[in-house]
Amino acid sequence: MGERRAVILGAAGFIGSHLADRFLAEGWSVLGVDNLITGTRRNLEHLAREARFDFLEQDVCLPLEVAGPVDAVLDFASPASPIDYLAHPFETMHVGSLGVESGLRLAEAKGARFLLASTSEVYGDPLEHPQRESYWGNVNPIGPRAVYDEAKRFGEAITMAYRRYRRVETRIARIFNTYGPRMRLDDGRVVPSLVAQALRGEALTVFGDGSQTRSFCFVDDNVEGMWRLLRSDVGDPVNIGNPEEMTILRFAEAVRRHTGIAAPIVFAPLPQDDPRLRRPDVSRARELLGWAPAVDFEEGMRRTVPWFRARLAAGG
Ligand code: UDP
Repeated sequence: MGERRAVILGAAGFIGSHLADRFLAEGWSVLGVDNLITGTRRNLEHLAREARFDFLEQDVCLPLEVAGPVDAVLDFASPASPIDYLAHPFETMHVGSLGVESGLRLAEAKGARFLLASTSEVYGDPLEHPQRESYWGNVNPIGPRAVYDEAKRFGEAITMAYRRYRRVETRIARIFNTYGPRMRLDDGRVVPSLVAQALRGEALTVFGDGSQTRSFCFVDDNVEGMWRLLRSDVGDPVNIGNPEEMTILRFAEAVRRHTGIAAPIVFAPLPQDDPRLRRPDVSRARELLGWAPAVDFEEGMRRTVPWFRARLAAGG
Protein backbone atom coordinates (compact mmCIF):
# COMPACT_ATOMS: atom_id res chain seq x y z
CA MET A 1 0.00 0.00 0.00
CA GLY A 2 1.37 3.45 -0.92
CA GLU A 3 0.23 6.56 1.00
CA ARG A 4 -0.56 5.43 4.50
CA ARG A 5 -3.14 6.84 6.83
CA ALA A 6 -5.55 4.84 8.95
CA VAL A 7 -8.76 5.88 10.63
CA ILE A 8 -9.32 3.71 13.70
CA LEU A 9 -12.86 3.73 15.03
CA GLY A 10 -12.81 2.84 18.72
CA ALA A 11 -9.17 3.95 19.09
CA ALA A 12 -9.53 4.65 22.82
CA GLY A 13 -10.58 1.07 23.49
CA PHE A 14 -8.46 -1.90 24.47
CA ILE A 15 -7.64 -3.35 21.04
CA GLY A 16 -8.13 -0.05 19.16
CA SER A 17 -5.38 1.65 21.15
CA HIS A 18 -2.93 -1.19 20.56
CA LEU A 19 -3.74 -1.03 16.85
CA ALA A 20 -3.01 2.70 16.84
CA ASP A 21 0.43 1.96 18.34
CA ARG A 22 1.13 -0.69 15.71
CA PHE A 23 0.14 1.45 12.74
CA LEU A 24 2.21 4.35 14.06
CA ALA A 25 5.17 2.01 14.56
CA GLU A 26 4.78 0.91 10.94
CA GLY A 27 5.11 4.55 9.86
CA TRP A 28 1.43 5.27 9.25
CA SER A 29 -0.51 8.32 10.36
CA VAL A 30 -3.53 7.55 12.49
CA LEU A 31 -6.78 9.37 13.17
CA GLY A 32 -8.49 7.81 16.18
CA VAL A 33 -12.23 8.28 16.64
CA ASP A 34 -14.06 7.38 19.85
CA ASN A 35 -17.01 8.69 21.87
CA LEU A 36 -15.37 7.37 25.07
CA ILE A 37 -18.45 5.55 26.41
CA THR A 38 -16.37 2.46 27.12
CA GLY A 39 -12.98 3.59 25.84
CA THR A 40 -10.73 5.86 27.84
CA ARG A 41 -8.36 8.70 26.98
CA ARG A 42 -5.83 7.07 29.28
CA ASN A 43 -5.23 4.41 26.60
CA LEU A 44 -4.00 7.16 24.24
CA GLU A 45 -2.19 9.42 26.72
CA HIS A 46 1.22 8.17 25.61
CA LEU A 47 0.47 9.48 22.08
CA ALA A 48 -0.14 13.06 23.19
CA ARG A 49 3.07 14.29 21.58
CA GLU A 50 2.95 12.01 18.54
CA ALA A 51 2.66 14.27 15.48
CA ARG A 52 1.23 11.46 13.31
CA PHE A 53 -1.65 10.82 15.70
CA ASP A 54 -4.88 12.80 15.87
CA PHE A 55 -7.97 12.16 17.93
CA LEU A 56 -11.58 13.01 17.21
CA GLU A 57 -14.10 12.58 20.01
CA GLN A 58 -17.23 11.60 18.15
CA ASP A 59 -19.92 8.96 18.00
CA VAL A 60 -19.03 6.97 14.89
CA CYS A 61 -22.74 6.57 14.09
CA LEU A 62 -22.70 10.21 12.97
CA PRO A 63 -21.26 10.91 9.52
CA LEU A 64 -17.46 10.76 9.59
CA GLU A 65 -16.10 13.89 8.01
CA VAL A 66 -12.40 13.35 7.50
CA ALA A 67 -10.29 15.68 5.38
CA GLY A 68 -7.45 14.30 3.27
CA PRO A 69 -6.61 10.82 2.05
CA VAL A 70 -7.42 7.68 4.01
CA ASP A 71 -6.03 4.26 3.12
CA ALA A 72 -7.66 2.10 5.77
CA VAL A 73 -10.67 2.31 8.06
CA LEU A 74 -10.51 -0.11 10.98
CA ASP A 75 -13.79 -0.48 12.82
CA PHE A 76 -13.16 -1.42 16.46
CA ALA A 77 -15.89 0.79 17.91
CA SER A 78 -18.28 -1.11 20.16
CA PRO A 79 -18.85 -1.99 23.76
CA ALA A 80 -17.39 -5.50 23.77
CA SER A 81 -17.75 -7.04 27.22
CA PRO A 82 -21.05 -8.53 28.33
CA ILE A 83 -21.54 -6.06 31.18
CA ASP A 84 -20.69 -3.12 28.90
CA TYR A 85 -23.07 -4.09 26.15
CA LEU A 86 -25.82 -4.96 28.60
CA ALA A 87 -25.33 -1.52 30.19
CA HIS A 88 -25.43 0.12 26.73
CA PRO A 89 -27.84 -2.04 24.70
CA PHE A 90 -28.99 0.64 22.27
CA GLU A 91 -25.55 2.17 21.77
CA THR A 92 -24.26 -1.34 21.04
CA MET A 93 -26.93 -2.02 18.43
CA HIS A 94 -26.46 1.39 16.86
CA VAL A 95 -22.68 1.24 16.67
CA GLY A 96 -22.86 -2.28 15.25
CA SER A 97 -25.20 -1.14 12.47
CA LEU A 98 -25.20 2.63 11.85
CA GLY A 99 -21.60 2.90 13.05
CA VAL A 100 -20.37 0.16 10.71
CA GLU A 101 -22.19 1.75 7.78
CA SER A 102 -20.70 5.11 8.64
CA GLY A 103 -17.21 3.54 8.53
CA LEU A 104 -18.03 1.78 5.25
CA ARG A 105 -19.21 5.06 3.72
CA LEU A 106 -15.97 6.72 4.71
CA ALA A 107 -13.99 3.85 3.16
CA GLU A 108 -16.08 4.08 -0.01
CA ALA A 109 -15.65 7.85 -0.28
CA LYS A 110 -11.88 7.60 0.20
CA GLY A 111 -11.27 4.42 -1.78
CA ALA A 112 -9.89 2.94 1.44
CA ARG A 113 -9.83 -0.61 2.73
CA PHE A 114 -12.26 -1.39 5.51
CA LEU A 115 -11.63 -3.89 8.28
CA LEU A 116 -14.48 -4.92 10.56
CA ALA A 117 -13.74 -6.21 14.05
CA SER A 118 -16.32 -8.97 14.23
CA THR A 119 -16.43 -11.56 16.96
CA SER A 120 -16.65 -15.20 17.95
CA GLU A 121 -20.06 -14.20 19.34
CA VAL A 122 -21.42 -14.59 15.79
CA TYR A 123 -21.16 -18.34 16.53
CA GLY A 124 -23.33 -17.92 19.64
CA ASP A 125 -23.42 -21.03 21.86
CA PRO A 126 -21.76 -23.14 19.16
CA LEU A 127 -22.85 -26.60 18.13
CA GLU A 128 -19.65 -27.05 16.14
CA HIS A 129 -16.37 -27.27 18.02
CA PRO A 130 -13.83 -25.86 17.38
CA GLN A 131 -15.48 -23.13 15.33
CA ARG A 132 -14.57 -22.76 11.65
CA GLU A 133 -15.53 -19.71 9.61
CA SER A 134 -17.97 -21.85 7.60
CA TYR A 135 -20.13 -22.39 10.72
CA TRP A 136 -23.24 -20.17 10.74
CA GLY A 137 -23.68 -20.17 14.47
CA ASN A 138 -26.28 -20.78 17.13
CA VAL A 139 -27.37 -17.36 18.34
CA ASN A 140 -30.47 -16.62 20.41
CA PRO A 141 -31.87 -13.57 18.56
CA ILE A 142 -34.07 -12.47 21.47
CA GLY A 143 -31.76 -13.15 24.43
CA PRO A 144 -29.89 -10.45 26.34
CA ARG A 145 -26.63 -11.03 24.42
CA ALA A 146 -28.43 -10.47 21.12
CA VAL A 147 -27.82 -6.72 21.29
CA TYR A 148 -24.16 -7.51 20.64
CA ASP A 149 -24.30 -10.78 18.72
CA GLU A 150 -26.95 -9.71 16.24
CA ALA A 151 -25.41 -6.27 15.76
CA LYS A 152 -22.11 -7.93 14.89
CA ARG A 153 -23.86 -10.35 12.52
CA PHE A 154 -25.55 -7.38 10.86
CA GLY A 155 -22.14 -5.68 10.71
CA GLU A 156 -20.77 -8.64 8.75
CA ALA A 157 -23.79 -8.62 6.42
CA ILE A 158 -23.54 -4.92 5.60
CA THR A 159 -19.77 -5.20 5.17
CA MET A 160 -20.33 -7.97 2.60
CA ALA A 161 -23.03 -5.86 0.92
CA TYR A 162 -20.61 -2.94 0.52
CA ARG A 163 -18.08 -5.38 -0.85
CA ARG A 164 -20.52 -6.89 -3.37
CA TYR A 165 -22.51 -3.87 -4.46
CA ARG A 166 -20.24 -0.89 -3.78
CA ARG A 167 -16.89 -2.51 -4.50
CA VAL A 168 -15.35 -1.53 -1.17
CA GLU A 169 -12.26 -3.62 -0.34
CA THR A 170 -13.38 -5.18 2.93
CA ARG A 171 -11.92 -7.52 5.54
CA ILE A 172 -13.71 -9.25 8.43
CA ALA A 173 -11.86 -10.49 11.52
CA ARG A 174 -13.77 -12.76 13.90
CA ILE A 175 -11.99 -12.01 17.13
CA PHE A 176 -12.02 -14.55 19.95
CA ASN A 177 -11.42 -13.68 23.62
CA THR A 178 -8.43 -11.35 23.71
CA TYR A 179 -6.62 -10.02 26.78
CA GLY A 180 -3.67 -7.92 27.78
CA PRO A 181 -2.70 -4.51 29.14
CA ARG A 182 -5.28 -1.68 28.81
CA MET A 183 -8.34 -3.79 29.50
CA ARG A 184 -10.54 -1.86 31.90
CA LEU A 185 -10.40 -3.39 35.37
CA ASP A 186 -14.16 -2.97 35.65
CA ASP A 187 -15.20 -4.17 32.19
CA GLY A 188 -16.55 -7.36 33.75
CA ARG A 189 -14.64 -9.78 31.56
CA VAL A 190 -13.15 -12.78 33.20
CA VAL A 191 -9.49 -11.78 32.78
CA PRO A 192 -9.54 -8.30 34.37
CA SER A 193 -12.25 -9.29 36.86
CA LEU A 194 -10.47 -12.28 38.35
CA VAL A 195 -7.00 -10.76 38.30
CA ALA A 196 -8.30 -7.60 40.03
CA GLN A 197 -10.23 -9.69 42.56
CA ALA A 198 -7.11 -11.66 43.47
CA LEU A 199 -4.98 -8.53 43.76
CA ARG A 200 -7.59 -6.84 45.95
CA GLY A 201 -7.72 -9.86 48.24
CA GLU A 202 -11.25 -10.76 47.17
CA ALA A 203 -12.71 -14.12 46.18
CA LEU A 204 -12.67 -15.09 42.49
CA THR A 205 -16.18 -15.16 41.03
CA VAL A 206 -16.58 -18.19 38.77
CA PHE A 207 -19.90 -18.22 36.94
CA GLY A 208 -21.73 -21.55 36.71
CA ASP A 209 -19.60 -24.54 37.68
CA GLY A 210 -16.61 -23.18 35.76
CA SER A 211 -16.63 -26.05 33.25
CA GLN A 212 -17.39 -23.73 30.31
CA THR A 213 -14.35 -23.07 28.15
CA ARG A 214 -12.68 -20.10 26.49
CA SER A 215 -9.48 -19.71 24.48
CA PHE A 216 -7.49 -16.61 25.36
CA CYS A 217 -5.41 -14.69 22.83
CA PHE A 218 -2.77 -12.16 23.87
CA VAL A 219 -3.41 -8.73 22.36
CA ASP A 220 -0.10 -8.49 20.43
CA ASP A 221 -1.05 -11.64 18.52
CA ASN A 222 -4.43 -10.15 17.73
CA VAL A 223 -2.85 -6.96 16.40
CA GLU A 224 -0.44 -8.95 14.22
CA GLY A 225 -3.47 -10.80 12.82
CA MET A 226 -5.27 -7.51 12.06
CA TRP A 227 -2.17 -6.12 10.37
CA ARG A 228 -1.79 -9.18 8.16
CA LEU A 229 -5.48 -9.42 7.37
CA LEU A 230 -5.72 -5.78 6.29
CA ARG A 231 -2.77 -6.18 3.94
CA SER A 232 -4.04 -9.49 2.53
CA ASP A 233 -6.65 -9.93 -0.19
CA VAL A 234 -8.93 -12.12 1.96
CA GLY A 235 -12.50 -10.86 1.80
CA ASP A 236 -14.10 -13.73 3.69
CA PRO A 237 -14.18 -13.70 7.50
CA VAL A 238 -11.06 -14.96 9.28
CA ASN A 239 -10.94 -16.25 12.87
CA ILE A 240 -8.23 -14.57 14.94
CA GLY A 241 -7.77 -16.19 18.32
CA ASN A 242 -5.60 -18.57 20.26
CA PRO A 243 -6.78 -22.20 20.12
CA GLU A 244 -5.36 -22.90 23.61
CA GLU A 245 -8.68 -23.79 25.27
CA MET A 246 -9.27 -24.03 29.01
CA THR A 247 -12.13 -24.20 31.46
CA ILE A 248 -12.90 -21.08 33.45
CA LEU A 249 -12.05 -23.02 36.60
CA ARG A 250 -8.58 -23.71 35.18
CA PHE A 251 -8.30 -20.06 34.31
CA ALA A 252 -9.12 -19.13 37.94
CA GLU A 253 -6.34 -21.45 39.09
CA ALA A 254 -3.95 -19.75 36.67
CA VAL A 255 -4.89 -16.39 38.17
CA ARG A 256 -3.91 -17.66 41.62
CA ARG A 257 -0.60 -18.89 40.25
CA HIS A 258 0.23 -15.70 38.38
CA THR A 259 -0.72 -13.35 41.18
CA GLY A 260 0.79 -15.59 43.86
CA ILE A 261 -2.41 -15.12 45.84
CA ALA A 262 -4.39 -18.16 47.00
CA ALA A 263 -7.72 -16.41 46.60
CA PRO A 264 -10.82 -18.48 47.37
CA ILE A 265 -13.27 -19.22 44.56
CA VAL A 266 -16.98 -18.42 44.88
CA PHE A 267 -19.48 -19.71 42.37
CA ALA A 268 -22.12 -17.35 40.99
CA PRO A 269 -24.98 -17.93 38.54
CA LEU A 270 -24.08 -18.46 34.90
CA PRO A 271 -25.32 -15.54 32.74
CA GLN A 272 -28.09 -16.39 30.26
CA ASP A 273 -26.86 -17.78 26.91
CA ASP A 274 -23.26 -17.92 28.13
CA PRO A 275 -21.52 -20.07 25.48
CA ARG A 276 -20.47 -23.46 26.87
CA LEU A 277 -17.47 -23.95 24.64
CA ARG A 278 -15.36 -21.66 22.53
CA ARG A 279 -12.23 -22.40 20.57
CA PRO A 280 -11.20 -21.03 17.19
CA ASP A 281 -10.12 -23.15 14.28
CA VAL A 282 -7.38 -20.90 12.91
CA SER A 283 -6.49 -22.95 9.81
CA ARG A 284 -7.69 -20.18 7.50
CA ALA A 285 -5.50 -17.55 9.19
CA ARG A 286 -2.54 -19.94 9.07
CA GLU A 287 -3.00 -20.76 5.40
CA LEU A 288 -4.00 -17.38 4.00
CA LEU A 289 -2.20 -14.97 6.31
CA GLY A 290 0.70 -17.08 7.55
CA TRP A 291 -0.52 -16.09 11.01
CA ALA A 292 -0.41 -18.09 14.21
CA PRO A 293 -0.38 -16.93 17.82
CA ALA A 294 3.17 -16.49 19.08
CA VAL A 295 2.47 -15.76 22.76
CA ASP A 296 1.23 -18.71 24.79
CA PHE A 297 -1.11 -18.30 27.73
CA GLU A 298 1.56 -18.45 30.44
CA GLU A 299 3.69 -15.82 28.70
CA GLY A 300 0.65 -13.63 28.01
CA MET A 301 -0.33 -13.71 31.68
CA ARG A 302 3.24 -12.79 32.66
CA ARG A 303 2.90 -9.72 30.44
CA THR A 304 -0.58 -8.83 31.70
CA VAL A 305 -0.76 -9.37 35.46
CA PRO A 306 2.00 -6.82 36.31
CA TRP A 307 0.15 -4.23 34.24
CA PHE A 308 -3.07 -4.81 36.23
CA ARG A 309 -1.05 -4.66 39.45
CA ALA A 310 0.37 -1.26 38.45
CA ARG A 311 -3.06 0.02 37.42
CA LEU A 312 -4.53 -0.94 40.77
CA ALA A 313 -1.62 0.67 42.59
CA ALA A 314 -2.32 3.84 40.58
CA GLY A 315 -5.92 3.87 41.78
CA GLY A 316 -7.70 1.36 39.51
N1 UDP B 1 -16.92 -15.33 33.87
C1 UDP B 1 -16.74 -15.75 35.19
N2 UDP B 1 -16.55 -14.81 36.16
C2 UDP B 1 -16.49 -13.47 35.88
C3 UDP B 1 -16.64 -13.05 34.52
C4 UDP B 1 -16.86 -14.01 33.55
O1 UDP B 1 -16.78 -16.96 35.49
O2 UDP B 1 -16.31 -12.68 36.82
C5 UDP B 1 -17.12 -16.36 32.84
C6 UDP B 1 -18.28 -16.08 31.90
O3 UDP B 1 -19.47 -16.61 32.41
C7 UDP B 1 -17.83 -16.78 30.63
C8 UDP B 1 -16.30 -16.64 30.66
O4 UDP B 1 -15.97 -16.37 32.01
O5 UDP B 1 -18.16 -18.15 30.66
C9 UDP B 1 -15.77 -15.53 29.79
O6 UDP B 1 -16.52 -14.38 30.07
P1 UDP B 1 -16.16 -12.97 29.49
O7 UDP B 1 -17.17 -12.00 30.02
O8 UDP B 1 -14.73 -12.67 29.72
O9 UDP B 1 -16.32 -13.10 27.90
P2 UDP B 1 -17.33 -13.88 26.94
O10 UDP B 1 -16.46 -14.91 26.31
O11 UDP B 1 -18.45 -14.51 27.71
O12 UDP B 1 -17.79 -12.82 26.01
